[in-house]
Amino acid sequence: MRFDGFAGNREAKRLLSAFVDGGRLPHALLLEGPAGSGRRTLARLIAKAAVCTGAGEKPCGRCAACIKATGGNHPDIVETGGDGAARSFHIETVRDIRDKAYILPNESPRRAVILAGAQGMTEQAQNALLKILEEPPAHALFILTCENRAQLLSTIQSRTVCIPLGPVSPEEAEEAVRRLLPDADETAVRQAIAVFGGLVGQVVQGLSEGTFQKVIQLTPAFAEAVAAPDELALLRLTATLEKDKDLADGVLGGLALVFRDAIAFRFGAQGAGSLSVAPETAEKLARTLTRAQLLALIRTVEGLQADRRRNINYTLFLTLLCSRLRSAAGR
Ligand SMILES: [Zn+2]
Repeated sequence: MRFDGFAGNREAKRLLSAFVDGGRLPHALLLEGPAGSGRRTLARLIAKAAVCTGAGEKPCGRCAACIKATGGNHPDIVETGGDGAARSFHIETVRDIRDKAYILPNESPRRAVILAGAQGMTEQAQNALLKILEEPPAHALFILTCENRAQLLSTIQSRTVCIPLGPVSPEEAEEAVRRLLPDADETAVRQAIAVFGGLVGQVVQGLSEGTFQKVIQLTPAFAEAVAAPDELALLRLTATLEKDKDLADGVLGGLALVFRDAIAFRFGAQGAGSLSVAPETAEKLARTLTRAQLLALIRTVEGLQADRRRNINYTLFLTLLCSRLRSAAGR
C-alpha cells in the first residue's frame, strides 16, 4: 500500500499494507488515536485504496477511481459522522449508513463507509451499528475513527480490527508539516511540534488557524500563575480554555517546555535552546521554584496530558489542572 507521505506510524502501515497488498481488507477497521494523529487522513487513504482500479501498489493515485476519491466525489466512498463531541453521532446517521452500505457499489469492488468520530456515538447508535457489523454486506468496508476504543461497546471493538495511531518523531513531523505548510516559519514549526507533541494534524491546524500563536501568548502567563501567591490568576486563565480543548493541549505542551527550561536554568544552562517558548518566564521560575517543585510540575503536566488522552470529563480536567499544578508548585 502507498501512504502518500502519511508520517510515522510504522506498525499501522505494516498491518494495512498486509491487508491491502494481500487483497483481504477486513469488513471493519477501527482507527484509534488522539486528535491530530491522522485518523481521517488515513481513513480516506484506505478508502481510496479499496476503490482503486489501478495496477500495482494501491492507491495508485492515477486511475479514474483515485482521482474521484481525491476530489471527494467517488460514488462508492461514503463519509459521515459526528463532530467528535459526546453524543453528537446519532442513530439516524447509522440508519442512513445502513441504507447506503447495502447498495451494491457502482464502480468498484468495495463500498467504503467512513464513520468519523465514533467516540461520539450514542449507545442507541452503537447498537444499531453493531447489527450491521454482525452481518455486513460482502462488498462493504467500514472504517471507524475514534479517540479511544474503550469509548465503544466491547461488542463493536471485537468486530473491528483496531489500528492504533500516535504521535510521530520530531523529524517525521517536521517533514510532514513542511510539505503541508511550505511557507511556515522554521522556528515556529519546531516549537509547534514540541508544543503539540508530534501530532501532525494539531501542528498544522495550530499554525494555520492561530491556536499556536495563542499558546505562545498564554503559556508564560499560565506558568507564572502556577507559582503566584494566590490561585485567582490561574483560575481566570483556565476559564479561557473552557471552549477550546486544542488550546488546552497546546498550553500543556507549552508548560512542559517552560518547566523543562526552568530546570535547565537551575542547572546553569545558558539559554534553553531554540525550542524555548518563554525563556524569561523559565528563568524567573528557576529563581522562585525549587528543583523538586519543577520536577513535580513536569510530572503533573505529563499526568494531565495522559488524562486528556484518556478523554476524561473536560470540566473535571480543568479543575484538576488548577489544583494539581498549584499543589505541585507547593502553593
Ligand atoms: Zn488508483
